[in-house]
Amino acid sequence: MKDMIISNLKQVHDRIQNACKQSGRNQSDVQLLLATKTVPAENIRIAIEAGETLIGENKMQELRDKDLVLKSLNIERHFIGHLQTNKIKDVLKYATCIQSLDRISLAQELDRQLQKQGKNIDVFVQVNTSYEESKFGLLPNEVTAFIKEIKKYDTLKIKGLMTIGLLDVQKEKMQPSLRLLREIRDEIYAEGIEDQHKLLLSMGMSQDLELAIAEGSNMVRIGTSIFGNRFLGKEIWNENIAE
Ligand SMILES: *Cc1c(COP(=O)(O)O)cnc(C)c1O
Repeated sequence: MKDMIISNLKQVHDRIQNACKQSGRNQSDVQLLLATKTVPAENIRIAIEAGETLIGENKMQELRDKDLVLKSLNIERHFIGHLQTNKIKDVLKYATCIQSLDRISLAQELDRQLQKQGKNIDVFVQVNTSYEESKFGLLPNEVTAFIKEIKKYDTLKIKGLMTIGLLDVQKEKMQPSLRLLREIRDEIYAEGIEDQHKLLLSMGMSQDLELAIAEGSNMVRIGTSIFGNRFLGKEIWNENIAE
């Protein structure tokens, strides 16, 4: 297991490096987040000991169960799954960033809890750029108004936008949903809602890492290419089921 994870990590870093070269981007502008849903804490530890520092979990339960092993390691944990309001309190114990902010009621409740604790948290706004029923996220045309609205919550530090692109065997089908996230960000800049260069794009997974980097991704979230298949069948991209 250890050898596999280490050699997979090397391959993923090579892919990132090549994709950056191809699109004339700096490798330092693209972070690697390990998507660790269903991955045992001991396997995550192998990747961390190999130098990784950023992981993303989809479920509060998994954050909690793996905390015993992971809390002593020097890593940052993001929450990248659909977040139910009643799980906020627990998620805030472990995560320093919520990448799946997708509704005002969630922003309100996060703000309420954070105020109580005198803390703040990083957030990415999740956008459903593929318009698929199976995914959470704001619709593209709702994003600018949403960002304006959540700026009033001082406890939420807006870091960027996140999307799960449309996955397909054909490149031409995957590209539009990645490009759209960049276009939405540029529109936010053009309207003066956020300062240029402030917003990061979290997009790109095992299948579409190269395309995402070509479209401007600043954070790729990789699971399968590092830890192997999750054996959850082809419904994995139904976020409702993943929940
Ligand atoms: C599982 C997951 C990923 C990683 O997907 P892989 O195809 O395994 O690389 C990325 N982002 C989110 C939100 C995920 O749930």
